[in-house]
Amino acid sequence: MPSQPPRHSAIWHPFTQMARFDAEPKLVIERAHGTRLVAKDGKEYLDGVASLWTIVHGHGEPRIVEAIKRQAERLQHSTLLGVSHTPAMELAERLLQHVPKGLRWSFFSSDGASAVEVALKMAVQYWGNAGLPERTRIVSLDMAYHGDTLGASSVGADGIFRKPYESLLVEPLRIPSPHRYRCSACAARTACDLTCATALERLLAERGKEVAAVIVEPRVQGAAGIIVAPEGHLKRLREICDRHDVLLIADEVATGFGKTGAMFACDLEGVTPDIMVLGKGITGGYLPLSATLATEKVYRAFYDAGHYEKTLFHGHTYAGNPIACAAALASLDIFEKEPVIERVRARAERLRRLLGAAFAEHPNVGEVRQQGLMVGIELVADRATKRSFPAAERMGWRSCLAAREKGVFVRPLGDVIILMPPLCISEAELDELVGAVSYGIGRALRSSPGLG
Ligand code: PMP
Repeated sequence: MPSQPPRHSAIWHPFTQMARFDAEPKLVIERAHGTRLVAKDGKEYLDGVASLWTIVHGHGEPRIVEAIKRQAERLQHSTLLGVSHTPAMELAERLLQHVPKGLRWSFFSSDGASAVEVALKMAVQYWGNAGLPERTRIVSLDMAYHGDTLGASSVGADGIFRKPYESLLVEPLRIPSPHRYRCSACAARTACDLTCATALERLLAERGKEVAAVIVEPRVQGAAGIIVAPEGHLKRLREICDRHDVLLIADEVATGFGKTGAMFACDLEGVTPDIMVLGKGITGGYLPLSATLATEKVYRAFYDAGHYEKTLFHGHTYAGNPIACAAALASLDIFEKEPVIERVRARAERLRRLLGAAFAEHPNVGEVRQQGLMVGIELVADRATKRSFPAAERMGWRSCLAAREKGVFVRPLGDVIILMPPLCISEAELDELVGAVSYGIGRALRSSPGLG
């Protein structure tokens, strides 16, 4: 290592090994429009991951930009701690027209992980306020990802992202992920019998009285590599939680706002969680905002003028920022005026066909997982045995880097290439996206040290 590392800028990038970053080609984004990112050198890239899964109706959407400008001129910020403002009031009301029936109250924060923290605190305090303070444990899924703050990391997957911070975290109780491709539960059976969900029944039968809530990414475990749960998984979790009087938290930070082919993944199974977490796409991808929604039952446990200690003691400075709320309202306007979800379903069908044609027989694509416009393409060294590539080959990363040559920006999670384009992507752009990824994989394979 040189005594003085090279310095691209003064930024210490998130989730980035800086020594690798310094050795790799740099991409500096300067502008964007529609589905395109424009780099400093003028080159354009199709935004294949919707700028970290946030962009819904496209970059530079004039109706959202206009709403942001108008709100910035009127009121750029005011707190929600004990006072209110119109954009947040309107947004809390408007969300109720879209979220599963039964959710009633919106608690605003700024990022997904913050809203997850709120959900966890809400769930545990709910039981304390209700006179059952022994219900403190959270159940999470094996390959879960809920964000990087301490509470959110606590309920996240055990592994490299969590290990260095273990001394700061609390331990959840865990149940298996609904991971059909590498399923240990159903491997010997001909069909999925939701053994992974039924594990919750056994756990709660034994330890239900200690458990405050189950937290789940409904239908799609995004950061795990777009693990798509079998139909009925979420419903089964809901039924088991109901039987054992345990709260269900649905983390829709990744799945919310149309990406799955429904407004929310919970809608796919007609499930209402007790607590629902929203982030990322809530503002259409324009500004940081998140929300933790609760049912009347949960809210009521905190509502007691004679007991100040029952207050939800949480609140971020920029929670429910008015400009962010205005962007969110403008994004909801578009959902209400245009057939966004229908378009997603049609695009998803086309995408399924394109992916099938490109990868169904590919010797190094183990599985293509898709729910709506959320896609994971899992690369494997051996399709028959599902053997992974050695991590050092960085096959996923090198494939994505090569796709940039064709003007497409995508990011992998390990050796799973993620596609999650903005919902407004056109049919021709879907062709372009799959073509570039296919090229990228081919290019990475040809230059693979292991494959000569
Ligand atoms: N929950 C889920 C399901 C997520 O996918 C993410 C982010 N990818 C988060 C929470 C955390 O959101 P943020 O990065 O905004 O804190």
